[in-house]
Amino acid sequence: MKIYNSLSRQIEEIVPIKEGQVGMYTCGPTVYSTVTIGNWRTYVLADWLVRALQYLGLEVSYVMNITDVGHLTGDNLGDADTGEDRLEKAAKRERKTAWQVAQAYTDEFLEGFAELNLSKPMVFCKATDHIREQIELIKRIEEKGFAYRISDGVYFDVKAFEAAGSKYGELSNLTEIKEGARVEVNPEKRDKRDFALWKFSPKNEKRDMEWESPWGVGFPGWHIECSAMGMKYLGEQFDIHVGGEDLRSTHHPNEIAQSEASTGKGPFVKYWVHGAFLLVDGGRMGKSLGNAYGLNDLRGKDFGAMDLKYFYLSGHYRKQLNFTWEALKAASEARDRLVRMLSGYKKGSERTNLREDKLKKINDYREKFLHAIGDDLNMPEALAVVWEVVKSNVADYDKYDLILEFDEVLGLDLRKSVEGLSEEQAPEELTKMLEKRNRLREEKKWEEADAVREKIEKQGWKVEDDGEESRLVRRR
Ligand code: AMP
Ligand code: ZN
Repeated sequence: MKIYNSLSRQIEEIVPIKEGQVGMYTCGPTVYSTVTIGNWRTYVLADWLVRALQYLGLEVSYVMNITDVGHLTGDNLGDADTGEDRLEKAAKRERKTAWQVAQAYTDEFLEGFAELNLSKPMVFCKATDHIREQIELIKRIEEKGFAYRISDGVYFDVKAFEAAGSKYGELSNLTEIKEGARVEVNPEKRDKRDFALWKFSPKNEKRDMEWESPWGVGFPGWHIECSAMGMKYLGEQFDIHVGGEDLRSTHHPNEIAQSEASTGKGPFVKYWVHGAFLLVDGGRMGKSLGNAYGLNDLRGKDFGAMDLKYFYLSGHYRKQLNFTWEALKAASEARDRLVRMLSGYKKGSERTNLREDKLKKINDYREKFLHAIGDDLNMPEALAVVWEVVKSNVADYDKYDLILEFDEVLGLDLRKSVEGLSEEQAPEELTKMLEKRNRLREEKKWEEADAVREKIEKQGWKVEDDGEESRLVRRR
């Protein structure tokens, strides 16, 4: 399969370092608040990629980290070495310890992860569980002459790295960030691009999270965790690294520099995959704007995690996608329709002996689907193939099998939804009300019909009209 590699800026065929096996790492959440539908878009991208590779018969060793220390607020302004630690800040806000904050949001994240039916990594690694590995890595970088110490911490020396013949910031797409932050540069730094490997705890302040180190008590810089844990679980060089597009300018170039400086080998990672951001109502999503929605906000409006996942399928991962409640509703309706069609296929048909021409047709759809996912994960096109199958004259049973096979990549857990649907028969009383409402409509008594529908909806069910037919669907 082919994927756009941000490093080469080209669409490339994925050729794993070890034949048949792929090592893949995704930058996970910073657990200081609820994971947003923007973050989830990036994790769903990683999920599609894992599933697509597995569908193609590759074995995937998948790792995702959980950032629970060291990600400072200055990151928003272009300098991740300044500002407050997000975890410590949240702890003050919530009157808890940073450890409690991390635990609560990690639990919430893992619940959402399961709800979205995302491929489970072989390990979710926490930064705070790998302090020793991070210290060891910084020691190696220092021994090789690529680190120096100033009053607030130990920094990576970009100029020394370049002087040794390496390139810094190849991945970056923002020259202004490459050249320096938008905030005032720490005058002790040798170069504007240098970044913290280890930060000292502020004097006269006891942090919740701090550790002894050869340089002094403190905590790791944000970038070092991903190098240390990526190399620990996947080796000094591995295949794929995924993250949101914001990480392309500094976090990922810094990961590359640290890793390659310590091992003397390159490339640290062969393919860098970046997902474009999710917008909300055409603009930026932000906590201060009140639109940084999480799965809970969706639930409050009767939408489930799978509706969101179906919505993500509507856009290519390298294009920004605009979230609106209307678009989510449209996605939810389309998904419901698909589940109902599948449920009908399951009930209504028997497996047939496929004639040559039918078999060829099924294989053509399979080829088309494979082509879509292999073409830089073109999920909107892959979804279109699903609907082509629905509309085709392929036998129902085979439609069912084929679409469930495609779902191995889409990850919508369609089988579960179909099973859930057949279990959910509306109570007789409501069925009678629906019949009454339909009669009233036939008599063109619209207002009375609507009043009955509203009564039905108050009982937790929804009336859905599909041409001549109408049915009751449980509201989530
Ligand atoms: P953070 O919790 O800020 O460390 O971000 C976790 C992941 O979510 C990173 O890969 C980010 O690039 C990604 N991310 C953050 N905001 C968005 C967004 N609006 N759309 C898509 N991905 C995002
Ligand atoms: Zn990372």
